[in-house]
Amino acid sequence: MVSATVCNIKQETPSTKSFDLIPASGEIHFLPGQWIDLSILINGHTEVAGYSITSNPAHNSSISLAVKDVGDDLVTRYIHDSMVDGDIVSLGVGGTCTYSSDKRNTLLLAGGIGITPLISIFKYIGETTSHKALIFHSVSSSKEFLFQKDIETLCLKYPERLFYKQTISEKFQQSIDTGFGRITKDALQMLSLSCFDTVFLCGPNKFISDLSECLIEIGLDESQIHYEKWW
Ligand SMILES: Cc1cc2nc3c(=O)[nH]c(=O)nc-3n(C[C@H](O)[C@H](O)[C@H](O)COP(=O)(O)OP(=O)(O)OC[C@H]3O[C@@H](n4cnc5c(N)ncnc54)[C@H](O)[C@@H]3O)c2cc1C
Repeated sequence: MVSATVCNIKQETPSTKSFDLIPASGEIHFLPGQWIDLSILINGHTEVAGYSITSNPAHNSSISLAVKDVGDDLVTRYIHDSMVDGDIVSLGVGGTCTYSSDKRNTLLLAGGIGITPLISIFKYIGETTSHKALIFHSVSSSKEFLFQKDIETLCLKYPERLFYKQTISEKFQQSIDTGFGRITKDALQMLSLSCFDTVFLCGPNKFISDLSECLIEIGLDESQIHYEKWW
């Protein structure tokens, strides 16, 4: 476990806070797509919860996280209710669902806060490789578009290689062409999937299982599809 200081706490959306962690000494080495176990001392007990790293591993003097205010686990409650800049926490890096440049051109399917590990992969591909990536983000309401500005800025910087598509599912009776509705098999078929060598998915468990099934039905091989399920 590494000791680190909390800084740059921001309310990114009505439900989600982001913040950075600066290690007490040295750098934090991680791969795109990895997460940390974040440990904090609450009432004399060490409490632990896992969150994906949202920053680019190429910049490892600090790491960034984003945490949605869901559930009642004590670490998420601490982050949303009492964490302040300067707090000291501990962390350990983990996770095997990672991107490396042999995975080449990649489609990133994100459901809600599940964008967290995928934005790290997106930044890494843009800034560190010559490959292409499309991030397709589905959110329940327009207020929940996390990292929209960061993604748009990167797409402007690498217009030949980075692409962004969004959908808002609160009006899911509407057609996906209009920017509304859930990601479905039809929506995936409109993406020219043959351009992508791999697909990474992250979001609610049903989002992952339904969409990976659709990808197989469309003709992708299981070995091309990458995800990790948590809670
Ligand atoms: C690997 C991994 C990493 C994670 N990292 C973090 C983290 O860093 N921070 C954090 O706070 N939580 C994290 N989580 C937790 C987890 O992503 C969320 O608790 C869970 O995804 C619910 O997210 P949400 O409330 O944003 O989803 P919702 O808002 O309920 O849904 C998100 C979108 O998915 C759509 N959707 C849902 N089901 C389907 C379906 N079957 N088909 C098509 N679309 C569907 C919805 O319509 C909506 O548009 C992680 C989970 C995993 C598996």
